[in-house]
Amino acid sequence: MQFDWRREVNEAAAVKLVCDECGRECASATYFARRLYCPTCADQLGISGSTVSYETLMGQLLREMRTRLDEWAAELERQLERRRGADGDPLRDDDFAVARLERYRGLEAQYLSLHRAFRRRGYAIPNPGWRSAYVERVINCGFPTQLGD
Ligand SMILES: [Zn+2]
Repeated sequence: MQFDWRREVNEAAAVKLVCDECGRECASATYFARRLYCPTCADQLGISGSTVSYETLMGQLLREMRTRLDEWAAELERQLERRRGADGDPLRDDDFAVARLERYRGLEAQYLSLHRAFRRRGYAIPNPGWRSAYVERVINCGFPTQLGD
């Protein structure tokens, strides 16, 4: 299965809450009838619906990126299993993984910028242990990662 990660990530980087009524960006919005309303417009129009925060959207995005990166780590582990017993440099010998490395470098960079955005805004990183587990998996497979060492 293929996914257009570049498009998804670009959209993800632009995630923000914009009121469908007045066009203003807001920290939280009311979702009603497939439209978002800032608190002021929701109040003026008497709309009540579920409230979604910027932090919630960012957390959702972070989880989606982690899923993609976990898929990458799982691929590397499958490659490692196939290579077991054979000597060689995985970066040179593993054409399949090498071909995909650049794309995951881009995704890792996006992950880092999202992580920094969480810190800047003072949001708690959900399940912070995920990062070190990911780093261990990738490095065990003999691949570099920008998320740690
Ligand atoms: Zn509004």
